[in-house]
Amino acid sequence: MLHIGSHLSSAKGFFAMGQDALKIGADTFQFFTRNPQGGRAKNINPDDVANFLWLAKENNFVQFVAHAPYTLNPCSDNPATRKFAEMVFIDDLERMEMLPGNYYNFHPGSHVGQGVERGIAMIAALLNKILKPEMSTIVLLETMSGKGSEIGSRFEELRQIIDCTQLSDKLGVCLDTCHVYSAGYDIVNNLDGVLDEFDKVIGLERLKAIHLNDSKMPFASHKDRHEKIGQGTIGLEAIIKIINHPKLQNIPFILETPNELSGWKEEISLLKSYAF
Ligand code: FE
Ligand code: FE
Ligand code: ZN
Repeated sequence: MLHIGSHLSSAKGFFAMGQDALKIGADTFQFFTRNPQGGRAKNINPDDVANFLWLAKENNFVQFVAHAPYTLNPCSDNPATRKFAEMVFIDDLERMEMLPGNYYNFHPGSHVGQGVERGIAMIAALLNKILKPEMSTIVLLETMSGKGSEIGSRFEELRQIIDCTQLSDKLGVCLDTCHVYSAGYDIVNNLDGVLDEFDKVIGLERLKAIHLNDSKMPFASHKDRHEKIGQGTIGLEAIIKIINHPKLQNIPFILETPNELSGWKEEISLLKSYAF
């Protein structure tokens, strides 16, 4: 069964997100834990959480994905930026425990010229500081397009972060279809090969969520520009193969396509019509 949703605004709280998800035919969703540029998180209202948990249970929702702000960079060369990443991580993960068993996704970071090895060591150092055995949240490393000095555009880099993290059972991966295609993994002509590669390098059991996006940019361009489903360089045919791939079942698919609710509703109904 296809579990699908989109990125939603968290402005009105969890219950409102649940209602938005239902409106567009979704059984999962994603949201920013705070302003994507950073900033403070809103207080979580326990009544809102309770109402949401009821609605999610009633409607058989699967895990949601909380997305860390884009400005979070654990491998910045600026100590204040690294400190901010730590502060946000700790605060977000603490809040996440009010809604146990979901996913917290982040962009591994940009090494800004310090080198991939050093960047990876800094990312793992942060994870080693903030992951706790009692946490119920799984932290997801997102696959990146490799723009600028981004870490995580190669599966090997994500593997290294996992290997350097002590509580690695708290780590998973979120595969972004736009990003991997831009990074040079040909999911259009060789989906099986890419998934075999993922399995060999990272292990498919780590794959916890998929960002389902088409791309405005050509293959291996290392650019990160999402496109509506079926209107980009990946195309509808490849996307249908992805949602129906036997190795990708029961994983939440999250649309981050340039849309409003009505557009996501159409994409979800289109994709459901093609799901086996
Ligand atoms: Fe992302
Ligand atoms: Fe993404
Ligand atoms: Zn992106």
